[in-house]
Amino acid sequence: MSIIQKSATEQLALLQSGEITSAELTQAYLERINAVDTSVGAFLRVESETALAQAVKIDRKRKAGESLGKLAGLPVAIKDILCTINTPTTCGSRMLENFAPPYNATVVENLLAADAVILGRTNMDEFAMGSSTENSAYHPTYNPWDTSRIPGGSSGGAAACVSADMAPLSVGTDTGGSIRQPAALCGCVGLKPTYGRVSRYGLIAFASSLDQIGPLAKTVEDAALLMEVLAGYDPLDSTSVNIPVPAYSESVGKPLENLTLGVVEHHFGEGIDPEIESAVKQAIAIYESLGASIKNIELPHADYGIATYYIIAPCEASSNLARYDGAHYGYRADQAEVLAELAEDGSDEGPLVRMYRKTRSQGFGAEVQRRIMLGTYALSEGYYDAFYLKAQKVRRLIRKDYDQAFEQVDMIIGPVTANPAFAKGEKASDPMAMYLEDLYTVTANLAGVAGISLPCGFTENGLPIGLQLQAAPFQEEKLLRAAQMFQNATDFHTRRPEIS
Ligand code: GLN
Repeated sequence: MSIIQKSATEQLALLQSGEITSAELTQAYLERINAVDTSVGAFLRVESETALAQAVKIDRKRKAGESLGKLAGLPVAIKDILCTINTPTTCGSRMLENFAPPYNATVVENLLAADAVILGRTNMDEFAMGSSTENSAYHPTYNPWDTSRIPGGSSGGAAACVSADMAPLSVGTDTGGSIRQPAALCGCVGLKPTYGRVSRYGLIAFASSLDQIGPLAKTVEDAALLMEVLAGYDPLDSTSVNIPVPAYSESVGKPLENLTLGVVEHHFGEGIDPEIESAVKQAIAIYESLGASIKNIELPHADYGIATYYIIAPCEASSNLARYDGAHYGYRADQAEVLAELAEDGSDEGPLVRMYRKTRSQGFGAEVQRRIMLGTYALSEGYYDAFYLKAQKVRRLIRKDYDQAFEQVDMIIGPVTANPAFAKGEKASDPMAMYLEDLYTVTANLAGVAGISLPCGFTENGLPIGLQLQAAPFQEEKLLRAAQMFQNATDFHTRRPEIS
C-alpha cells in the first residue's frame, strides 16, 4: 500500500515515529494530484510551493524537538470558501476571482496552529449553491468512481480529492447537505457539526443561520481527528458556542452501549433507489447485530424540509450577497462598457445603478442569480409573511420534531441521498430535481443538529452509497463513536476508486 492510500491517522503515526517526513508525504500527494486531477478537477488551485515550504518547516520543528500540533505534517485541502490571508479565495465565483482576503478564517488559523500543511483549494458550486459542483464558475468536478458522473456538491472538490487519494483530509461546508451528500456520493466520511460548534468567522456567507464547516476524510477516526482541530469557541463568531471540545480522536474507538437508533419510515419506499434502500436497511441490521435497538420514529414536518429550506436559504443569500455590488468587493463591470451600454439603450438609469446591475449579472452565475431573485421576492413587502415568516414557523416545528425524537432515541439512522451519483448534465437544467437531492439532509441544518455520512455499500455498477446518522446538538462525540462501530464491522471505507 502506498503512503497516500493510508489513512490520516496511520500517516500521523508514521510522521511521529520518523518513518516518513511531511515533505515526502506532501510531495507524494502533489504527484498524485498531478497524475489524476486532470480527470477529476477537484482542485481550483494547488499550492505546491507554500505546501512544501510549510512541510519542510514542520519537519525541522520536529527534528529540533519542538512541540507540535495535532495534525503536524498532515496535508489538508480546503474548500475555496474559507478566507486565507493574501491568497485568492474565489468561492467558485467570477465575482471573487481576484479576491485575496486580508485575514484568515478561524478554522484556517486552527489548521495552521495544529501544524497542518495546506495543500490547496478545492472546487465548489458557486457560493456553495448546488448539489453537483457543476455550478462552479471555473470547471466542474467529476466523480472519481465514474468520471461521467458528478461528485455531489457543493463541496464536490473536497469529497473527490479525499476519495481519489489527492488529500488525506479536507474541509468543507454544509448549509443544506454540502458535506454529507458529496461524501456519500464519493464514498467518504463527512461530518456536519451542530450549528455553533465550529466558528464561521472567515467563511464566506451563503445562508448564515444554516452554514457550518466540517471535516471530510476516508475514515471516521480521521474525521474525528480533523473535527477536534476545527471545533471550538470563537469570540469572533457570535453564534459560536462556548462549551469544551471533547477529545474526539481519543474517544472515537469506544463503542456505545445501549444505543437506540430511530428509523423514520417515510425515508423509505417511494422515490428512493432500491439499491440505496437495501444498503441502508442492511446497515440498520448491522447496528442491531452490534447490540443497538431500533425504534420507529416520526419527523412529521420533515416533508416540508425542502420547501422551507428553499425559502430561508435564498432569503439569507439575497441579503448576504447584496455586498457584491462592484464597489466593495471583487469583480466590477467595465466603466466604458457601462457608459456605452447606457448611451446605446438611451435609458435614464444612472451609471452607478447600471454598474451595479452589470457587475451582478456578469459576476454571478445563473443559479446564484436565481437564488437572489427567489430570496428578494420572498422577503418583499406582501410576501414576507406568506413565505419567509411561514418558513420560519415550519423551521421551528422541524426543530421540535427533532427534540421529541431525541427524547426517544440517541440517533436517527437513514439514507443521505435518494439516488447514487447522477450523470453530469442530468439535472443541470432542472432546478427542482437538483433541489430534491437535499431531501434527507436539509432538515439537520434547519434544526441545527449534527449529522454524519459514512460509506455503507455500493450499487451494482460500483457507485458508493452513504449512511446518515443524526444526533442532538453537540453530540458529535457520540455520533463519531457510533459511526466508528459501523466502520469496524464493515470494509466499505477501505475501497478506493480506480482512476485512469
Ligand atoms: N444543495 C443545497 C443548496 O444548493 C445545499 C448546499 C450547501 O449545503 N451548501 O442550497
